[in-house]
Amino acid sequence: MYRCGRCGEKLASEFSPIGIQCSKCGFKVFYKERPNRKKVLKAV
Ligand SMILES: [Zn+2]
Repeated sequence: MYRCGRCGEKLASEFSPIGIQCSKCGFKVFYKERPNRKKVLKAV
C-alpha cells in the first residue's frame, strides 16, 4: 500500500513507484505503508 506524501491519497497495492504520480494531486513522493514503519519513496 502506498500513500501520497502530500494529500494522502491511497494508491493501488502492488506496483513500482518509479515514474508514477498521484492521480489526485500529481505529487511524486509516496509513503509505503507497513505494519510497523513507514518508508519514504521518491518516484523519479
Ligand atoms: Zn496526492
